[in-house]
Amino acid sequence: MKFPVTCPECARETIGEFQIAVIATALITGKTLRLYSACHDLYWTATQVEREQLREYLAAISIDARERDDQPVESSDSTGASSVGGSV
Ligand SMILES: [Zn+2]
Repeated sequence: MKFPVTCPECARETIGEFQIAVIATALITGKTLRLYSACHDLYWTATQVEREQLREYLAAISIDARERDDQPVESSDSTGASSVGGSV
């Protein structure tokens, strides 16, 4: 997944590409997470704030995927409402 990171060297925001599995595992297990900025070819350990941002990012992605799955299923739901119990 692509995630915007702020370079600690020049404070410029760049888009880094990270493996979802690696990030998810690090967040779940509490392990340190290595981020990378291409502008300075620099690796650093994600701060608490950055970990929180990644967590929200991951959550947004999984919600997005679930909604996309559900959408085509929604169809006509208003048929046969007046044909039951009409005999007196
Ligand atoms: Zn930089």
